[in-house]
Amino acid sequence: MATVPPLDPYISKPKVYLVGRQQVANDELARFLADEGMVFSTDAPAGGEALAEIAGRVCYMSFGKGRKSNREYLDNILTSKHGSVLEHAVWCVLITGVSRALTHELVRHRAGFGYSQLSQRYVDESDARYVVPPLYQENPELREKWQQTIETLRTAYTELAEATVQYVQQKHPEMSPRDRRKWARQAARSILPNATETKIFVTGNSRAWRHFLELRGSVHADTEIRLLAVEVYRLFKKESPNIFQDIELVDEPDGMPSVHVTHSKV
Ligand SMILES: Cc1cc2nc3c(=O)[nH]c(=O)nc-3n(C[C@H](O)[C@H](O)[C@H](O)COP(=O)(O)OP(=O)(O)OC[C@H]3O[C@@H](n4cnc5c(N)ncnc54)[C@H](O)[C@@H]3O)c2cc1C
Repeated sequence: MATVPPLDPYISKPKVYLVGRQQVANDELARFLADEGMVFSTDAPAGGEALAEIAGRVCYMSFGKGRKSNREYLDNILTSKHGSVLEHAVWCVLITGVSRALTHELVRHRAGFGYSQLSQRYVDESDARYVVPPLYQENPELREKWQQTIETLRTAYTELAEATVQYVQQKHPEMSPRDRRKWARQAARSILPNATETKIFVTGNSRAWRHFLELRGSVHADTEIRLLAVEVYRLFKKESPNIFQDIELVDEPDGMPSVHVTHSKV
């Protein structure tokens, strides 16, 4: 049987998986168009883009009229800041290899996002992986200092969690082993560092994703979340070239790219 190589306990960049996208229910759209006596087709490359166009065209019942391509249609939406139309295009993204510090910033984005994150109460973090801040990736001396601290904390967490399980067992013999572990972990996790790796499933509409890219892809953002924004941008640019048509990467003097949004806060 093939053995799986152990994972590197240290992570240098996030991974982003675009795990959910929409599709148009063409039969129902055709039924609507027939009922209204209209003809319409779109060249949108993504289901979400088609849905945003359909939603926008309902506003003026402009099916089969006006701008021809989905790109032109959405360009007008972006230029006129008719941003609510973009809320109909939704993508689900699974993010791994990011720190708890990063997700603390990520979940501050409330409007248009839903989150499901790995639980440090249910999951044992004794074998947790840790995200190396970009600055420590370029300096071996600081990296060594950082890594020693992390390993000290890893040992401390494991010992504390084990001791806490024993204590809870004595204090609450009526509890199931599962609940005892949960109680122990919820106390012991208080000493886990911000660098602890986490995984988070994020569903967001494209108006919200655009706002995230603008704020977190900026040179003013923390470098780890900026790296994430760049990865998310790359996925979305490929997936939905029309909704993200005005967004580009720019090489910055600090050696990292930033995300540049032409139509700010649509
Ligand atoms: C570089 C940088 C530094 C930061 N530093 C700090 C810091 O030191 N401390 C700190 O606490 N936070 C900090 N933040 C977080 C920041 O204050 C926001 O909480 C975060 O960026 C989420 O963005 P948002 O407020 O636009 O909310 P989102 O949820 O992304 O909302 C998008 C937009 O919807 C509208 N909206 C959302 N909710 C409401 C509402 N309740 N009422 C009215 N309109 C709403 C707003 O127009 C908002 O811009 C920082 C962010 C950045 C990018």
